[in-house]
Amino acid sequence: MKKSIEKLQKIFKLESEREYDNHAVLGGLVRILDHWEAEARAEYISEDLIKAVSNRIRDYSQLSPKSRAEALDGLWRRIVQEEHGPPISFEYEESKQADPKPESLPKSRDTDQAIDQNAVEKTENHYQEPEIIAFERPDIHKPPITSIKSEKIDETADLKTPVSVLHGVGPRNSQTLEKIGIHVIRDLLYYFPRRYDDYSKFKQINRLTYGEEVTIIGTIQNVSVRTVRGGQNKLVEVVISDGSADLRITWFNQPWIARRFHKGFQIVVSGKVDQYLGRLTMSNPEWEPVDKEHLNTARIVPVYPLTSQITQRWLRRVINQAVTLWAPKVIDYLPQRIISSEGLMNLPDALVQIHFPDSEDSLKRARYRIAFDEIFILQLGVLHQKMSWQERTAITFNLDKHWWESQSARLPFTLTNAQKAAVYDIKNDLESGHPMNRLLQGDVGSGKTVIAALAISAVSQFNGQSALMAPTSILAEQHYNHIQGLFQKHLSIGHNSPAQIEAQDIRLLLGSTPESEKEGIRTGLSNGSVKLVIGTHALIEDPVDFANLQLVVIDEQHRFGVEQRAALRSKGTNPHLMVLTATPIPRSLALTIYGDLDLSIIDELPPGRKKIETYVLTPYDRERVYAFIRKELEKGNQTFIIYPLVEESDKSESKAAVEEHLRLQQEVFQDFKIGLLHGRLKPTEKESVMADFRNGEYQILVSTSVVEVGVDIPRATVIVIECAHRFGLSQLHQFRGRVGRGTEKSYCILIPESTEDVENERLKIMAETDDGFVLAERDLELRGPGQFLGTRQSGYSDLKLANLTDIKLIYNARKRAQIVFDEDPELKSPQNQGLAEAYRHAWGDSKGDIS
Ligand code: ADP
Ligand code: MG
Repeated sequence: MKKSIEKLQKIFKLESEREYDNHAVLGGLVRILDHWEAEARAEYISEDLIKAVSNRIRDYSQLSPKSRAEALDGLWRRIVQEEHGPPISFEYEESKQADPKPESLPKSRDTDQAIDQNAVEKTENHYQEPEIIAFERPDIHKPPITSIKSEKIDETADLKTPVSVLHGVGPRNSQTLEKIGIHVIRDLLYYFPRRYDDYSKFKQINRLTYGEEVTIIGTIQNVSVRTVRGGQNKLVEVVISDGSADLRITWFNQPWIARRFHKGFQIVVSGKVDQYLGRLTMSNPEWEPVDKEHLNTARIVPVYPLTSQITQRWLRRVINQAVTLWAPKVIDYLPQRIISSEGLMNLPDALVQIHFPDSEDSLKRARYRIAFDEIFILQLGVLHQKMSWQERTAITFNLDKHWWESQSARLPFTLTNAQKAAVYDIKNDLESGHPMNRLLQGDVGSGKTVIAALAISAVSQFNGQSALMAPTSILAEQHYNHIQGLFQKHLSIGHNSPAQIEAQDIRLLLGSTPESEKEGIRTGLSNGSVKLVIGTHALIEDPVDFANLQLVVIDEQHRFGVEQRAALRSKGTNPHLMVLTATPIPRSLALTIYGDLDLSIIDELPPGRKKIETYVLTPYDRERVYAFIRKELEKGNQTFIIYPLVEESDKSESKAAVEEHLRLQQEVFQDFKIGLLHGRLKPTEKESVMADFRNGEYQILVSTSVVEVGVDIPRATVIVIECAHRFGLSQLHQFRGRVGRGTEKSYCILIPESTEDVENERLKIMAETDDGFVLAERDLELRGPGQFLGTRQSGYSDLKLANLTDIKLIYNARKRAQIVFDEDPELKSPQNQGLAEAYRHAWGDSKGDIS
């Protein structure tokens, strides 16, 4: 018998013994409902039946004992009929039921005690769990047990079930979960811990050192609450001991904490070790009661990213419930031969182990499995998109070699070999009869825009229109000036062809463009007189229609979502597409990340570029650096000073930039103007700070990593990067590209946080090479591929474990995906249906959207 039914049976039986007093369950039968519904659904009980049970039980308290008896009787008949054939009465049949499994017997006292304890804690926590007697509670407190997995299940568990079916997840908690992106059961299964606490590996208090982030476990010796700041605030002070030493911990303004604590209470505390009057302390650490059960059974305990209103303990329990009930029923969509030949853990196990690992080793294997899936599905999507793109036809632009050569010859310089190769690729694409789908990758200043201009010129020979979309107004303007200059001064001169682009055929369309001017641009685009429009999102947001859009150029591709690219493309019929990026991706990875695009790499800078001198200095050199900056500023040059912003949400980091800005302005560079740029500014504010800096209104720009890549500040000759060791090489390289755009010699100064970090291997490499691709390869070796995988902002954004992924995994997953794709590109075969479902989940139903 299904467990959920069995529970009803027990309750009904007890109710009848108690003569229907509605006390078989503490608080009334109605208390079983949310929980029972979830369980019943997980066991595929029909929705009709679930509804019947809920309705009946909801009204139960209002019925007379006689009607109660009839209600349960009737309900039971219906249950048995639906589930087991001929009707039988629950009152007599307990022991004769088919298939009484030993697991279905009530649990031992141990479990009950654990439950009682939890119930007490929960009342103080965030949700109230009814205390239920008389029937077995699910072991949501125990780590999932492997025996469940052995049940043979041939339907997919419905992972789209809302989380509210879970016990303890009412409307209010559902809303809170929604804030962290959790709506349905699947989201919970895939809500991975941010770290794990190994309860066998806590740091001893006598081993603590100042400044480290640690987790300790200890017993409370003493609790006191003090009023501070004239009675305004409360300070809770606790002394804990782990046998090795004592530690004083304080919590500021959380007086309720004191009510939870008492002498002898064991807690786990995580936070930064601080110092007060020469003694180590902790202030406002995260804490939770010691979970005895975790101490004894599962030594590795997940720690989830939280939001306020949710406690670690609560979320852990909810996830445990979801994992226990659903994970075993998840269909493993990978073909068995891949699972065995790659030695992968199966998916149900992986989903259990990644949350509640039995050992370090099984955790590692679980993560490997899930990361494998991420790459595998990414690759399937990329291959699919490439195929659907190649199936389309596009207008053929046949221009002979001579035309391309003479166009190139009009430029004020000779193309580098890498540029020539890219032009050759583009010529072939335009002749192929299929839409071009090419990524042009090259360092800042490597000459990508020029290549785009040549393609635009080619398309215009056939009266085709082009559109270039950049992520910000400032970049769009820059492209506009650059490209208009190229046509005006070089490409158009001496042509008599009416198809040639003149300066007035090129227009700039920004959100801020006056409506009257927009109107003119729209008219020009729809009658074909405007040949090239350069702009921002305004290009897709505005009701712009093209007479004959044949080429779409997207700058800084990772800044746009797939929908935005698709939106621009859809303004023509299969136009050719070219995307430009200055983010070097290691070649080995580019195939995986951008496998749907053809790749042209410009790995050569035009001759005569001055190398940017790069130095790694210690924090003690800072004064010297300021003196050096001052000299440059006095020459009329400008300086960037960059501070880290590890995560956008990290308040303290952006505070660093804000505080430093103040300090530098008031104490160091009083006689210069300093601009400030950080992630908390609105996009328009960021743009205007950047524009002011470019226009020379500030001599120094203090910024977090949000500083715009690609904006030319020709007078910027110095970039100082603070806490440089925190950045990846590729990112440092991007920053370095902010200077050296003009004629003057430029400098990049890297200052790590401490003197030891000066020896940092990565920083040394920065000083040694200025080749973005070499740096990207080194970055891949040193930091793994996660950072690069994140640069693909497309329909697929589910790379949660990418940072743990190694390159071997990527190769393997790609290879396997290719085989599956070759056999069944549309995932139509019956055995690939689970995979098709997972694919749709990751990629949506998008067809032919490319990155
Ligand atoms: P990117 O778009 O890759 O950052 P741009 O196309 O803007 O690079 O080129 C940067 C600068 O270098 C421009 O001023 C451009 O005119 C110039 N340039 C491009 N190609 C060459 C070349 N082969 N030789 C000399 N200068 C070049
Ligand atoms: Mg550029």
